[in-house]
Amino acid sequence: MKAGKPAPTANLMYRCAGPNCGTLKGITDHWWLMWASFAEFNRPVLYLCPWDDEIAAREGTLHVCGELCAQRLQSQFMGNVRENQRSASV
Ligand SMILES: [Zn+2]
Repeated sequence: MKAGKPAPTANLMYRCAGPNCGTLKGITDHWWLMWASFAEFNRPVLYLCPWDDEIAAREGTLHVCGELCAQRLQSQFMGNVRENQRSASV
């Protein structure tokens, strides 16, 4: 852990949700947002969109630093869905 100097513009610090990533978002980084929702189609749906401050602040939103982490999270999501399907159908 680095001894960080206090951020001059102390906005919210976002950390990448990717497995084994944890990158902190810089102001000029072009990140992505992902979230899963069951509400709209009555089944788990994974959403992915370019960074938006308003969506980023919403509860349950995952902050993603890049394509690789998005792919990992997608794979995690798909694994979870498969697992739930398996346990539901037994
Ligand atoms: Zn990442």
